[in-house]
Amino acid sequence: MSASDAIYLHTVFTSAVQFHTGLGDADITLTRSSPAHLQPLIVANRRTTFVLLHAGYPYMREAGYLTAMYENVYLDIGEVFPVVSRRGQEALMQQLLELTPTNKIMWSSELFFIVSSPRNGNLEGYVRSHR
Ligand SMILES: [Zn+2]
Repeated sequence: MSASDAIYLHTVFTSAVQFHTGLGDADITLTRSSPAHLQPLIVANRRTTFVLLHAGYPYMREAGYLTAMYENVYLDIGEVFPVVSRRGQEALMQQLLELTPTNKIMWSSELFFIVSSPRNGNLEGYVRSHR
């Protein structure tokens, strides 16, 4: 990671709140991990930037809806990709792209995967759009 990458990441992490939504470890309660549960918090904090991690899987449509409806919500899809099958990945992207603005989809902002120039480019675009 270069120094400029670190600066961009610092900017993102100090100006946004990330929530691990959907899939995760065995100790989560899946029925309570839908990003839809965050809607009251998002509505009450319109000046806070929210990043929904894990694409909300398996609640992609709920995550996409929140991302589309609220200017302060972004979606990260990075960590879910190595977990689901190729067909699952395709279905995930199809569901997300039904509604989610493509300029609000991020890749691995929680640093699950570090080295990826598309990710860095996505973060740079995200940071630039919020200055
Ligand atoms: Zn996570």
